[in-house]
Amino acid sequence: RIKELINEKGLLVDLELDYEKEGIGVKKSGCHGFCEMGPLVRIEPENYLYLRVQIEDCEEIVNKTLINNEAVERLMYTDDDKVYKAQEDIPFYRKQTRMVLKNCGSINAESFSEYVAKGGYKALGKVLFEMQPQEVCQSILDSNLRGRGGGGYPSGAKWKQVLKQDSEVKYVVCNGDEGDPGAFMDRSIMEGDPHGVIEGMTIAGYATKSTIGYIYVRAEYPLAVERLKIAIEDARKHGMLGENILSSGFSFDININMGAGAFVCGEGSALTASIEGERGMPRVKPPRTVEKGLWEKPTVLNNVETYANVPLIINNGSEWYKSIGPENSPGTKAFAITGNVNHTGLIEVPMGTTLREVIFDIGGGIKNGKKFKAVQIGGPSGGCLTEEHLDLPLDFDSLKRVGAMIGSGGLVVMDEDTCMVEVARFFMNFTQNESCGKCVPCREGTKRMLEILEKIVNGKGSKEDLDLLEELADTISSTALCGLGKSAASPVVSTLKYFRDEYLEHVVDKK
Ligand code: SF4
Repeated sequence: RIKELINEKGLLVDLELDYEKEGIGVKKSGCHGFCEMGPLVRIEPENYLYLRVQIEDCEEIVNKTLINNEAVERLMYTDDDKVYKAQEDIPFYRKQTRMVLKNCGSINAESFSEYVAKGGYKALGKVLFEMQPQEVCQSILDSNLRGRGGGGYPSGAKWKQVLKQDSEVKYVVCNGDEGDPGAFMDRSIMEGDPHGVIEGMTIAGYATKSTIGYIYVRAEYPLAVERLKIAIEDARKHGMLGENILSSGFSFDININMGAGAFVCGEGSALTASIEGERGMPRVKPPRTVEKGLWEKPTVLNNVETYANVPLIINNGSEWYKSIGPENSPGTKAFAITGNVNHTGLIEVPMGTTLREVIFDIGGGIKNGKKFKAVQIGGPSGGCLTEEHLDLPLDFDSLKRVGAMIGSGGLVVMDEDTCMVEVARFFMNFTQNESCGKCVPCREGTKRMLEILEKIVNGKGSKEDLDLLEELADTISSTALCGLGKSAASPVVSTLKYFRDEYLEHVVDKK
């Protein structure tokens, strides 16, 4: 019987079958976040979390837990001989506040009814029947929800600007083109709770009087694409998308656009160009997207995590949302924590949580008992933070003050053995490869910076090269056309600032 539970890839398949009459069901879900310990199996309603489950373990789980209600302790998280039975008690989860990720790992992402059973589409019903578009925009503005894609621009202000545009056609676009190395927050949301994104976008459509939505998702995320397609189809079938939603008179539908994996297509104007069928290259601004975005029409552009926050705000109110995290950056933020840390995975914490809490309390500290050295935050556009920043609250403004940015939320942790010059070279190589070539400072400047970094890594650089790196960084960031170029030098600038000694150790004229 156990063999029937397992498909050829070794994954448990959806089994509502015979088990239903026993009151037992097995379902596949989205990501629980504790990637280091996967594959994970959660037993409800006890909330037991079984880690690193193998096919051979299934028989014991069925016999002991499902039939006899006993925990299989050897599959549970242990620390100093303490066994953590319930998922919420495990240190990795204890300090988290999972709001946007609450359904990920909990519901079957391909089930419309499970989403609804968790309160899904209630917010959509509320805005359609109890609120005017202007009130919805105001509610998002009052909540101070700031765009989770990196810039931190207030979403409500953006929505208001689109609402006031006098145009028959307006669009709602969702940026799911998550391309930072080490980032997988949006992917997990799309895979684990696609209806949350659809509901958020549809509310944005109503609030701004837009009728068409596009989700731009990279083709390298096939499971996200598949689950979004299923969710859109189901939402249409149940009257949550399409003509005259819930007989409210409001019509809105969503299309999926697959990107081909160019990092620059995460930039708003390049993304809209790509949806239009053009080459994904950034455009000169102004005009801004809110005035002339997709096909030159007013467009609301937010990322996946931003839209996923919207139903929560509508259901619970702006005051509730503002009560989480600091006043200027309320709410939570999902981070993908990777690198030399014990518990890699996907986490969600209130804004303002410190790096120390994230890396040591949730992430379980540095692997193999090594010392913490630095963390790269915000991907290639971000910067690196060091030990002196461990008590820095993670929010938009605090990070900006030290020259870093949350970006989309990637955190790559590095230990004492990491060569920071090599880290800078890695990110510069990534950015250089992804430069679209439209403007000279980025196209040529990143190439020259990469050449110099390679020279230094190979022990052939000089102290003059460090000055040249700084000069180039300054020129590129002040003259490049788009955000990719403007921030391309950030990893070099921050490693030069905090680890100059390491650069000096690599150069030939050390003194
Ligand atoms: Fe393209 Fe770089 Fe210029 Fe942006 S800054 S438009 S990525 S060349």
